[in-house]
Amino acid sequence: MGFMSGKKALIVGVASDRSIASGIAEAFVREGAQLAFTYQNDKLKSRVEKLSNRLGQNDNLLFPCDVSCDEEINKVFSDLNQSWNNLDVLVHSVGFAPREQLSGSFLDSITRDGYQISHDISAYSLAALTKAALPMMDKKNGSVLTLTYNAATQVVPNYNVMGLAKASLESCMRFLAADLGAKGIRVNAISAGAVKTLASAGISGFRQMLTYAEKTSPLERTVTIEEIGNVAAFLCSDLASGITGETTFVDAGVNIMGMGFDK
Ligand code: NAD
Repeated sequence: MGFMSGKKALIVGVASDRSIASGIAEAFVREGAQLAFTYQNDKLKSRVEKLSNRLGQNDNLLFPCDVSCDEEINKVFSDLNQSWNNLDVLVHSVGFAPREQLSGSFLDSITRDGYQISHDISAYSLAALTKAALPMMDKKNGSVLTLTYNAATQVVPNYNVMGLAKASLESCMRFLAADLGAKGIRVNAISAGAVKTLASAGISGFRQMLTYAEKTSPLERTVTIEEIGNVAAFLCSDLASGITGETTFVDAGVNIMGMGFDK
């Protein structure tokens, strides 16, 4: 019996087999959880469907959800509630900024629109989804998890406005943790190391982030979505019942290094 046995989880943020959310979904199912998914738009539906089938999940529990739309967010939970009485786990693995924001100097690239869009999709959506999920999460031992990146607190070239959005996301995670602790709901973040995905491919010079991790991290490599998935499963299980409001790094140790060694 897996350590997530009996848990019902909604995964928001699968776009491909390489998505961090796909690694999380795999680990959750291995540990006995049942899954429902959202997909951003019709273009991505078949990919999410394929993953759901491969993991032996119920086909009907796939819901369209563009997180910029409150009606779509609310409909996810009213539709999910037709099949499930309660929800134990919400995974938010969503991030977006217009491509031109993720290239060159911070000050040259940032615009009011870019700021608003990146914060709306990447940070506010955590609060919006959690608010809408709450009526289904009133049972004790609920858990919400989001995905962040070290550029929330340190400057990473080209990451630009997304660094600000991740800082906002991490703060949002802590405020939610403080609000929801009394209801027995824990809220945490994983700060993942660089992984090649559709979203990360939009960051100018992303390859350099991978090379930097390989050269600088104590483990001398990057991380996999399986490794991130394993920590996500732990954090969303009752094994982590004493952890809330925490950002846990799964980055092969890159974040502890002030400067790389000349190996
Ligand atoms: P991905 O492209 O596989 O996933 C990003 C997801 O965001 C996609 O499923 C996409 O559909 C969704 N999304 C974007 N805009 C949306 C919208 N308006 N409505 C609904 N969904 C929307 O990439 P990923 O790297 O797996 O990203 C998942 C999370 O992990 C993001 O928050 C990202 O910032 C974070 N992260 C990624 C890395 C990395 O190096 N890949 C590192 C640290 C943190």
